[in-house]
Amino acid sequence: MAMDNAAVPIPLAAPQARRTRQARVVWGSRVVTVGGDAPIRVQSMTNTDTVDAIGTAIQVKELAQAGSEFVRITVNTPEAAQAVPYIREQLDRMGETVPLVGDFHYNGHRLLTEYPDCAQALSKYRINPGNVGKGDKRDKQFGQMIEAAVRWDKAVRIGVNWGSLDQDLLAGLMDTNSRRAQPWDPRQVMYEALITSAIESARRAEEMGLNGDQIILSCKVSGVQDLIAVYRELSRRCDYALHLGLTEAGMGTKGTVASAAALSVLLQEGIGDTIRVSLTPQPGEARTQEVVVATEILQAMGFRSFVPSVTACPGCGRTTSTTFQELAKQIDDHLRSQMPVWRVRYPGVEKIKVAVMGCIVNGPGESKHADIGISLPGTGEAPAAPVFIDGEKAMTLRGDNIAQEFHRVVEEYIDRRFGAATVLRSA
Ligand code: SF4
Repeated sequence: MAMDNAAVPIPLAAPQARRTRQARVVWGSRVVTVGGDAPIRVQSMTNTDTVDAIGTAIQVKELAQAGSEFVRITVNTPEAAQAVPYIREQLDRMGETVPLVGDFHYNGHRLLTEYPDCAQALSKYRINPGNVGKGDKRDKQFGQMIEAAVRWDKAVRIGVNWGSLDQDLLAGLMDTNSRRAQPWDPRQVMYEALITSAIESARRAEEMGLNGDQIILSCKVSGVQDLIAVYRELSRRCDYALHLGLTEAGMGTKGTVASAAALSVLLQEGIGDTIRVSLTPQPGEARTQEVVVATEILQAMGFRSFVPSVTACPGCGRTTSTTFQELAKQIDDHLRSQMPVWRVRYPGVEKIKVAVMGCIVNGPGESKHADIGISLPGTGEAPAAPVFIDGEKAMTLRGDNIAQEFHRVVEEYIDRRFGAATVLRSA
């Protein structure tokens, strides 16, 4: 007989609350809140030459349509700074209001001062305290960038990166460490340098007139355990909104897994208000892949819904055909490609769950848990595919066109369930 161990229910898993101030990134009437009780935001960065205003505007739009809520572009030369207002103009003409973030290194103080149209067209400036200038130039040049942010009422990300850490600060901390009776591990000194650089820069920006709610901080490293250690401490020491990401995550599966591992741990602890997944695109891979991964992390963790999710079984010896793999991929691609239109036409559609299963073992059960699911015939099973809608068997598909028919059934379901919202909204 089974023992009754169920006197107390197992607690539901739930992330810890975030505790940051809320920042605002604004373009016209579009306001993207970051931190506080705002949803965890997704952002991305282009890899086009910013001087190519049309090409950059097209990629920004693609990233935005994939789910990126602000998009960063490199502003590295006078020509790039001159292109920024044209990129903004192109986006506005296309009806794309996603805020643009300018990524500045070394010469940001000059570009933001000498190209005011660029400074105005951006919604946020990324400042790297590690390369704003050396010696006595550092404070002056950092100050010029903050002055631009104050003048044009823009948000700022103070983005520290271990690859371009303030060397004077690091040397000072190393020196102090060498005099300790029991010196810290060099990595611990590096953590301290990253956090000190970010927080001291933010405090300086506030002293210069920038509001605390216009500041977002990041301290990026490329190791998963390092990132977790640094952000835990950063979040303990300040309440600025936090941009979270593993820098130089790498390519393909490695970059995806490393980012997911690091970000998931921290997000579950209530740390991180906006995320970027820094994937190196594989040859031929779309830049939007980094947005797909970022949205999938948030969706898998249950923080947000961006696209309908497709549950598919891995397949095994019970099914030797690849029909269900192909169908799962087709459905997934189709749902994702329709989202820019469906987001407007069918509010709430991103929350639905579709199951595509390979045989009778888990097929009907998993399909019943989904909003709409299909259980394909495994090897030796009758050539019939029951379809389940809202937990009930609704029909059985047969013949050679099961994939196309299931496609149609999914579309009809979405229109029936979410189309009414459009009618009500437009009435
Ligand atoms: S549902 Fe069937 S085909 Fe898919 S993994 Fe399970 S047993 Fe294998």
